[in-house]
Amino acid sequence: MGQAKDILLINPWIYDFAAYDFWMKPLGLLYAASLVRRFTPHRVSFVDCLDRFHPGLAGHPAGKPDGRGPFPKEQIPKPDVVRGVPRRFSRYGLPMALFDEELALVPRPDAVLVTSGMTYWYPGIQAVVDRVRRKFGHVPIILGGIYATLCTGHARAESGADLVVPGPAEEGLLPALAEVLGDAAMGAPDPSAPDPLPPPAFDLLRDRSWLPVLTSLGCPLRCSYCASRLLSAGFKQRPHAAVLAEIIDGHARFGTRHFAFYDDALLSGKRAHAWPLFEGLAAGPSLALHAPNGLHLREIDAATARLMRAAGLKSLYLSMESTDEHLMREWGPKASPADLENALRELEAAGYDRSAVGVYLITGLPGQSASGVAESIRFVRGLGAVPRLAHFSPIPGTEEWASLVRAGILDDAADPILHNKTAFAYLKSGLAPDELHALLRAPA
Ligand code: SF4
Repeated sequence: MGQAKDILLINPWIYDFAAYDFWMKPLGLLYAASLVRRFTPHRVSFVDCLDRFHPGLAGHPAGKPDGRGPFPKEQIPKPDVVRGVPRRFSRYGLPMALFDEELALVPRPDAVLVTSGMTYWYPGIQAVVDRVRRKFGHVPIILGGIYATLCTGHARAESGADLVVPGPAEEGLLPALAEVLGDAAMGAPDPSAPDPLPPPAFDLLRDRSWLPVLTSLGCPLRCSYCASRLLSAGFKQRPHAAVLAEIIDGHARFGTRHFAFYDDALLSGKRAHAWPLFEGLAAGPSLALHAPNGLHLREIDAATARLMRAAGLKSLYLSMESTDEHLMREWGPKASPADLENALRELEAAGYDRSAVGVYLITGLPGQSASGVAESIRFVRGLGAVPRLAHFSPIPGTEEWASLVRAGILDDAADPILHNKTAFAYLKSGLAPDELHALLRAPA
């Protein structure tokens, strides 16, 4: 199989106006590590710039017992293109010196794999590439992930990586690695297999008090502002038995009690997927499950709510977006106010407390007004649930992006930092986040 080499995987910093660890772990990179282990002879090491549990962060608040918590941060100068945004700008994650210490501890790599998240966080990748080059010289650096997929041209020109690999890791990663290492062709997962990827390399994480779980890829819906279909062609569900085994194994190996679903559409096709998964979980060890991405309201009926409760689904976030039915028709027919009323009624009947259910409301989309957002907030509160504002971020390749370009609000060559949801809100949408948060603080 060839000579074993050392591959370093890095999860980069976040550069933003705000960031909070809301069940964030680099699942794609952990799958990449497991692919390298399964299909090559190479060894992997891992440095996580977003590791809140690094022993060098003495005194940093631990966060909530369910896994959420604040990142350490250092204020840095705002990039010129967002200088007009009246907010502080920071690098979130490990202090630079701790990152350098981590680099000094790993074996000298033969190749480095860097993942990427939001398009506007690319300065974090540039910083990682810079530190890696200072330490290891011209080691080949491969960049994958969301930014690499959505802004491939920008990433090739600006990230500093030697190779940018858009798309799912299982398709491009191993050939890219073989190319930079000069290896003979490697094996690869069979894309037609029901569950082609080996389990994520959770052993690389320092903190395993909670773990991410992905039961499906993509979404059957097609909202005009969403990148889901750009990141996953089609909607694919893993076998529920394999997901259940992964969760039970994580609990047995690491003592993990909290698991966060990363799905875009956890409840779609629920009778053949989520229901048997929840039944299996209900019969297993006592766990706390979280669904931070927002559940589809229309899928929540009496049986589903009962099974969610029995399985241990604790943190509930529902995707409502707006009570303005005209806007909802334009963005994608996802849910109506009546769907929210039904879902909350069924959840309450199953034993959930309405006041613990978060309801996502999108803000800052073209065509939205502050009074429309205020109306949505009032509606959610009137039903006893908790409105949570999700600020719109323009994503290249979506229908909303095309409308913004047609309207002259953005252009295809815009610096991806302008995709930042806070920057877009202040500079382009006319709905400033502080104004909207004041609506949230206003008495009901
Ligand atoms: S339902 Fe959610 S994940 Fe699916 S397309 Fe709409 S916004 Fe994206």
